Order: sequence, then C-alpha cells, then structure tokens
Amino acid sequence: MEAVHHGVRGRGAHCVTCADLTALEEHIGDCRRCPLWEARTRVVFGVGDPHARLLFIGEAPGRNEDRKGEPFVGAAGRLLDELLTSIDIDRSQVYIANVLKCRPPGNRNPQLAEIGTCTPFLAEQVRLIDPVVIVTLGNFATKHILGTDEGITQLRGRFHIVGGRQVLPIFHPAAALYSPDKRQYLFADFALLRDTLDGVAQLARVSATALPAGAAGRLPFEIEGSL
Ligand code: SF4
Repeated sequence: MEAVHHGVRGRGAHCVTCADLTALEEHIGDCRRCPLWEARTRVVFGVGDPHARLLFIGEAPGRNEDRKGEPFVGAAGRLLDELLTSIDIDRSQVYIANVLKCRPPGNRNPQLAEIGTCTPFLAEQVRLIDPVVIVTLGNFATKHILGTDEGITQLRGRFHIVGGRQVLPIFHPAAALYSPDKRQYLFADFALLRDTLDGVAQLARVSATALPAGAAGRLPFEIEGSL
C-alpha cells in the first residue's frame, strides 16, 4: 500500500529556476553558499540521463565522490550498478544525485543550515528531470524526502507518494557492504522497481490518448505538496 507524504524537509528560502541541468550546474558553479565548500574538493552535481525515468537520491558525496566529482563511485557504486543490471537497466539510463552537493568533513551528518541552503538545487534537479520514480538511498535521504522520522527499515519495500511522485526508499548500498543480509532486501526492492516501471510503461501505452499532453509515462494522480 502506498503512503502519502506532504512534507519535504529543508526547503530553502530561495528557489532556483533554470532552463536545464546545464544552466543549473552553471548557477551552482563554485558554490560557497554554505560552509561545506571549505573542506570539499569539488561540487558533486549529479550524473546521468537528464530525462531519466529513474532518479536516485543519496545523502552527500563521500571521499571517493568528492575526489572524482561523481556520485556513487567505489564499492557502493559498483553494488548500485549490479542492482541496476539485475533489472536490465544501465547506469547511463538513470540519474544519480545527492541531497547535498559537497562532502561534509569526515562524512559527518549534514547540518540543518547546510541542508536548507543546498536543497533548492535538488528540488530544481527533480523538476527538470521529471522522473517517474525517485529512489531514496538510505536513512538520511529518505527522511529528508519523505519528511518523516521513521527509519529506513520501516519505510523500505513499498512506494510512498510525495508531491505526486512515486518514491521508493531502499537501504543505502554502502550499508549492504557491511551488513550482507541487506543485499537480499536491495535486490527485492529493485525487482519491485522493475515491476512498477513496467506497469507505468504499460499504463502510458494504454492511456496515452486519454491523458493530457505531456502526461504519458506519469501516473495520473495529483497529490498536494511539491518536491
Ligand atoms: S553543499 Fe550545496 S550550498 Fe553548500 S557549498 Fe556545496 S553546493 Fe553550495
């Protein structure tokens, strides 16, 4: 059963509207809007298909991501690739981003002010990419997107609705590196993801003529709230 969530934490006071992801990345630039710029190597904007049906959202860049400038590289990234392969999807077909674009020093938890300053960039990425499904990776991203204090263990395994979008929380792939028992849940959640994408594609084919222009491929419901 789907749960409906109305809140998204950390929406900043300033909004950003850009023509496309390239313009947004240029707008962010060599960002120094919050203190995280001081210890980072580079801004990790995000990577992938700018019109992907699937958007993965993690917490923040780790050490490897900070060095390379790309989200989900290293061992956790390889597991993410393996999970995608298990449902016949290539990394190039999805988009991967983080709530925060810069690495917190020592991978400490992000602070509220940092989240509030950076998340308008994520909100704009979501608007521009306009994915069918958002997958939140791990506790932090899930709590932020769903606006809840419930833990990932309670929230994973089912879809939630935020701002009219389908959101599937999953364990962070890095957690499965340390707790191998979590791997089975990750693969099960990706199978659920595959079924949902197939269902949406079928619905779009059947309903394309009945849906308003531009709505094909999206689920035909509207929920209050925005992301
Ligand atoms: S975390 Fe976000 S707001 Fe802070 S410096 Fe990096 S890009 Fe700018």
